[in-house]
Amino acid sequence: MKPLSTRATTIRPSPTLSLNAQLAARGAAGEEVLNLSVGEPDFPMPELARDYALKAIAEGRNRYTDVGGVPELRERIKRKLAEDNGLEYAPGDIVVANGAKHALFNAFLALCEDGDEVVVPAPYWVTYPEQVRVTGAEPVIVPTGAGLKLTADQLAAAVTPRTKAVVLSSPGNPTGATYSRSELEALAEVVVRHDLFVVEDLIYEYFHYDDGAVPSIASLGPELKDRTVVVNGVSKSCAMTGWRVGYTAAPPEIAQLIRRLQGQATSNVSVVAQYAAIGAMDDVPWEAIKSYRDRRDLAHQRLTAIEGVRCGLPTGAFYLFPDISTLLGNRTTDEFCSELLAEQGVGLVPGSGFGAPEHVRLSYAVAPSVLETALDRLATFVAG
Ligand code: PMP
Repeated sequence: MKPLSTRATTIRPSPTLSLNAQLAARGAAGEEVLNLSVGEPDFPMPELARDYALKAIAEGRNRYTDVGGVPELRERIKRKLAEDNGLEYAPGDIVVANGAKHALFNAFLALCEDGDEVVVPAPYWVTYPEQVRVTGAEPVIVPTGAGLKLTADQLAAAVTPRTKAVVLSSPGNPTGATYSRSELEALAEVVVRHDLFVVEDLIYEYFHYDDGAVPSIASLGPELKDRTVVVNGVSKSCAMTGWRVGYTAAPPEIAQLIRRLQGQATSNVSVVAQYAAIGAMDDVPWEAIKSYRDRRDLAHQRLTAIEGVRCGLPTGAFYLFPDISTLLGNRTTDEFCSELLAEQGVGLVPGSGFGAPEHVRLSYAVAPSVLETALDRLATFVAG
């Protein structure tokens, strides 16, 4: 037989998805699993999202929609971007995709090709480098050090004549770190000077525990908006990960290419999910989102009480990403996590998949009682 696609075979499977499948299988087999590896909120989706979905079904909305999404949803997203981010887009510049993951994929496909480089700050969300690779471009991993955020100097040092774009995620997964306006301004100067594009992932935007809104680099002025693809969606903010609704907002030329790509790949997102997303955006579960701040504090306090664990207090998302290097001995983080799971039934994600092999990712999007028990067991495991 002829060989299969090199491009496809060099893509690494998502470590978070395979770990979750493994943990689910243990749970199904009757073993107790305290799963702190989840990447989705545990609160219910908004009522209005459900109502709008049921209404769409009852009204017989069964047909293809515009590739980029129904006009009502794109109008709603347009309003959201204006109100939350100070960004003015035409509805045609917005393309609704199957989750933020698909939206990101569309963005990378529209921007990158063989020979390009894309700067991916580490720790990174596992999917960025792999999606970049699919386009034929090369992800250039830039370690951010203790600050966990890319600095202007680090970006400038990573730029080569082949650099096409930089990925920014704020608040970040797995770091929970949020870029301030002044940090973005410093990065923006480098971006403009070197004529780069920015792929800006704001999927955790509403999970922000400091005062004020999460700033978007695209909002820093037309020079930035013209070179940025903003990615967002309802998966995390409205606890609708299974509904698969995300979107890009991009300059017209890029948005047209994204439309074209999506038009030949998937066409529109499920029409029912699109209507659900309108309801979701009108009924964001703010109270539930805000309550995650207490969980963050609880998890952080318990975690940092364990000797040897080093972890700053993240400002966003729902993850802690401690450095556990002093606890590893001669184990890798992957081995540490496997042993923890086997001995204590606690599931954490090793940092290796995020480009930070001395860290683990812990999600606090679980019931506080689970969080407390899991962290007690982690303490026992470490002490033992
Ligand atoms: N970006 C980041 C940083 C994420 O963590 C995730 C989900 N884990 C996504 C994008 C994808 O979101 P969606 O479920 O909407 O595809």
